Amino acid sequence: MDKRTIVKKFAVYGRNVHPLAVEILKDLDQKNLDNVIAYICKTVDSFVISPEDVMRALKSYKFEEKPKRDVKDVTGKSMCEGTIEDFIAYFKSRFEKVSSFVRRRIGGIKVSALEKFRNEQVEVVGMVKDVRDYGEFAMFDLEDKTGVVSVFAGGKLREVALELFDDVIGVVGIYRNGRIYADRIVFPDIPIRERARRDFGVVFISDTHFGSREFLEREWDLFTRWLSGEIGSGRLLDLAGKVKYVVIAGDIVDGVGIYPKQEEDLLITDIYSQYEYAAEQLEKIPKDIKIYLSVGNHDAIRQAEPQPALPKEMRDLFSSNVVHVGNPAYVNLDGLNVLIYHGRSLDDLITKIPRLSYNRPQEAMIELLKRRHLCPLYGGKTPIAPEREDLLVIDEIPDVLHSGHIHTYGVGFYRGVLVVNSSAWQAQTEFQRKMNLNPTPCNVAIYYNGEVGRLRFCK
Ligand code: FE
Ligand code: ZN
Repeated sequence: MDKRTIVKKFAVYGRNVHPLAVEILKDLDQKNLDNVIAYICKTVDSFVISPEDVMRALKSYKFEEKPKRDVKDVTGKSMCEGTIEDFIAYFKSRFEKVSSFVRRRIGGIKVSALEKFRNEQVEVVGMVKDVRDYGEFAMFDLEDKTGVVSVFAGGKLREVALELFDDVIGVVGIYRNGRIYADRIVFPDIPIRERARRDFGVVFISDTHFGSREFLEREWDLFTRWLSGEIGSGRLLDLAGKVKYVVIAGDIVDGVGIYPKQEEDLLITDIYSQYEYAAEQLEKIPKDIKIYLSVGNHDAIRQAEPQPALPKEMRDLFSSNVVHVGNPAYVNLDGLNVLIYHGRSLDDLITKIPRLSYNRPQEAMIELLKRRHLCPLYGGKTPIAPEREDLLVIDEIPDVLHSGHIHTYGVGFYRGVLVVNSSAWQAQTEFQRKMNLNPTPCNVAIYYNGEVGRLRFCK
């Protein structure tokens, strides 16, 4: 704020102000400045406001705190244009963020400093490149800002190495003849924590696919009637009354033109009408329940992750208890931190890691936590928008990691964090049948007081 304006603001109250007092005030933002000047003139009697008066007032004045945001996602913040520079900045951000988690667990020397070592143990943190399998052992390159070193992974470590993608990890091993013979591969991972316990219920669902011919309307009605307290008895009915939040992890509608010949699977072929129908169906959930609605690859928003929330014309269709968020999104439910991620990268992980399976989605989700990244594999089926800040890094450790996308139900706890994949509300489509995917729809996960329950609304 310029000094003359500040003098004028005091003049409005009939006061003069000492130049040094102006100096102290000039860095305040507009809103705080106006309030502080009003406060000074109310509490100080003298005609000329001195620097001491200002200091005293600033000490006792209660500054307005910025309201704490309870959603963190890319909505309204996307900056990238997909240039080479964007990609460089994106990978730099990924490296910096994830390597800081690894460095909490091991030390680390720069790759460029390795040449000083001979047959000695070293610890290096870097990004994995180019994993090669030689049968008995595997090799991969580890890159930091100063260079690249190749790593030899024999015995059991070969299997660990073969599951690495563009991960940022640590390697502990002996440096000899220009390469590291790994003894240990260190993931960024998450520390062990207590399970979060809250005295309200949170219901997790996803992949409603409204507009699809295979949408399971009868089962959906059972679910919403249970939430409304119309059906169920005893403990089940009690539980419904405790639900404060419903979290939906994307693929709210089936979309249009998502896969070949999709029109044959559609009941509603217009995208806007699909959202109208979606809004109508969510109306069946009682209004005192807050709904967090994220997006997925079937929704009407850019495909590259991180995805912003739905466009305004779609958002406006929904009632006011629906909060629209992007994918991924951190949401704070009265202190329960939920990280919503639709889960497209789970396809990539399950395809590339043979021990993972579509029938146990929770195991693939645990890999995300271990790697502190929602899409550890770049260049798979999951398109990534190279934002300057990598928002797919798991910066904060959530109480719950919630995904959908693969339409099978699975829950588990990993180091105190609930991982839940909340299946779907769509029966097997012709496309899924051809791909040999067997969904387990109409399963609902409910988290209450540190325990997770499974409710089945299937026939
Ligand atoms: Fe889906
Ligand atoms: Zn999906």
